[in-house]
Amino acid sequence: MSEIQIKDLAFVPYINETELQKLISDVAQKINSDYKGKEILFVGVLNGVFMFASDLMKRIDLKCQISFVKLSSYDGTETTGIIKELFGLTESVESKHVILLEDIVDTGITIEGLYNDLLKQKPASLEICTLLFKPDKYTKGVPIKYVAKSVPNEFVVGYGLDYDGFGRNIPSIYQLKS
Ligand code: 5GP
Ligand code: MG
Repeated sequence: MSEIQIKDLAFVPYINETELQKLISDVAQKINSDYKGKEILFVGVLNGVFMFASDLMKRIDLKCQISFVKLSSYDGTETTGIIKELFGLTESVESKHVILLEDIVDTGITIEGLYNDLLKQKPASLEICTLLFKPDKYTKGVPIKYVAKSVPNEFVVGYGLDYDGFGRNIPSIYQLKS
């Protein structure tokens, strides 16, 4: 792996495929043990989560379902703070064990809005699982129970995460070159 260019920005390798898969296996194992005997409804936040959701779900050995919502609060590399719900859940989450899946939690604005919306529907339980977490930027109180990896406050791309729509196809994670 070496430096790559996406539009006007250069990125350097950060998390390789082997490390990513190990991080995801570790989170899946925790979920498998915490939810033993229960059924899970995963709710993934598109677009960024599609690769993580796929690899995580393959390692869940419990009865589970998945659904997706599409929200967006990002414009380029900076959060806009404005949440737009583009399309949402069609089924009820009432009385279900729901795990929200995110590619990355940054300020927490996106996930907090969704978390509070779903809580109103009275799920049996509601937790958040994210591939990446930026603790230094997180401003919200909602607990992030499952974090595959905490990362510094640098913009990352690849493995579903984009820069202006590009870079999602990269199988590993790259960080903005400083
Ligand atoms: P938040 O609402 O927590 O500030 O931002 C969450 C969303 O912003 C994530 O789901 C993701 O789509 C996007 N985001 C936050 N940080 C990054 C980053 O470093 N790289 C990319 N590509 N997207 C990010
Ligand atoms: Mg996202």
